Amino acid sequence: MASFYDTHAHLDYPDYAKDMTEVITRAQAAGITRIISIGTDLESSMHAIKLAERFECVFAAVGWHPSNAHEAPDDIREPLRKLAKHPKVVAIGEIGLDYHRRPGGSVSEPARKGDSAKRAGSETGAPDTAADDARNKQKQAEIFQQQLEVASETGLNCVIHQRDSFDDTFAQLKPFAGKVRGVFHCFGESADRMRRVLDIGSLVSFTGIVTFKNGQNVRDIVAATPLDKFMLETDCPYLAPVPYRGKRCEPAYVMEISKTIAQVKSCSLEELSAATCKTAAEFFPKLK
Ligand SMILES: [Zn+2]
Repeated sequence: MASFYDTHAHLDYPDYAKDMTEVITRAQAAGITRIISIGTDLESSMHAIKLAERFECVFAAVGWHPSNAHEAPDDIREPLRKLAKHPKVVAIGEIGLDYHRRPGGSVSEPARKGDSAKRAGSETGAPDTAADDARNKQKQAEIFQQQLEVASETGLNCVIHQRDSFDDTFAQLKPFAGKVRGVFHCFGESADRMRRVLDIGSLVSFTGIVTFKNGQNVRDIVAATPLDKFMLETDCPYLAPVPYRGKRCEPAYVMEISKTIAQVKSCSLEELSAATCKTAAEFFPKLK
């Protein structure tokens, strides 16, 4: 059986609190041999590390998600440096900029489902003014910058989240080219933007959206991306691929994603396995 990695999972989310062991067992049965659990704030990053200590096939990325920027400390570098030293921390992430959902805005959503009650409470009635918006963008840029610095110092690469903010995210990462590489996760921009990402030594990764009926844009990008320049991910619990669409997603479903991508690339599952696992091993050197 061809084996694959899930390079972007949120195993710390409460969605898995009741059946974590079964989720891991199903992933292994499906040939998913490595899972990277991604941090969205310090607490979530520490939780990801705990899971990495508990399960041999689980690794952690530590970072502060831009959608949670308003709750970040002024300086995140020192606590992040400490977490990054852990032997199973393979990346800084997810980090970046998100202009789609900002606190106080009408499309605001929490980055972590588990905190929805707390956040809804703290955000209710928050005025959505241009000044708040500018302050939030500024805070996002500051913590993104600090985390890029930590990545550069520690020699770790980054898991990049961007939404409606490609140009600013790219511009902020670019000066780090040669020191830090980023994987633009859940990539669905355009073939042109994919090439710009590859040009600075960074990578892209694809989720279950590639299996969606309305996912032709992503399939076109996959077709244009060289076989050795992308990785696979679920972004679970979100974005379950067909035929699980709408249900809770889990790492085992990388298998469905890989089948669609192998079709688009006209390659075998074995070739896709070899290429994507080699790319991930090079991008995440601590992923043993
Ligand atoms: Zn994510």
